[in-house]
Amino acid sequence: MSGKCLFCSIINDDIPADIIAQTESALAFRDINPQASTHVLIIPKKHIASTRELNKGNIEYLSEMALLANKIAEEEGINNNGYRWVINTGDDGGQTVGHIHLHVIGGRQMHWPPG
Ligand code: AMP
Ligand code: ZN
Repeated sequence: MSGKCLFCSIINDDIPADIIAQTESALAFRDINPQASTHVLIIPKKHIASTRELNKGNIEYLSEMALLANKIAEEEGINNNGYRWVINTGDDGGQTVGHIHLHVIGGRQMHWPPG
């Protein structure tokens, strides 16, 4: 937990979010600036700053996030056509919120390479 962390504030219900699903250890809510018709962020309910902080002691959080992402893809109706998972890390990765989050983006054709 980090007192100044935006996503910890959402976990603690200190700021509102459009929460669509959760488990004991993961939370899913809609991105405030969606890049497609489905754009959901999945976060661990424990403050992990980025992929760089993943280790054998906390990797289960990532598994839980992945399984919740699959459930959401089904519920959002994007499972058959496909979708994209994104985790940005650090400045060059384009990470703007310092609490690890998995973007699940779908509902339109994605392009490659990313910007
Ligand atoms: P990233 O650039 O990978 O760190 O992604 C951060 C994401 O968080 C961006 O897509 C933002 O639109 C999103 N975001 C920022 N603040 C909020 C918020 N209060 N509620 C939901 N999504 C947010
Ligand atoms: Zn946090």
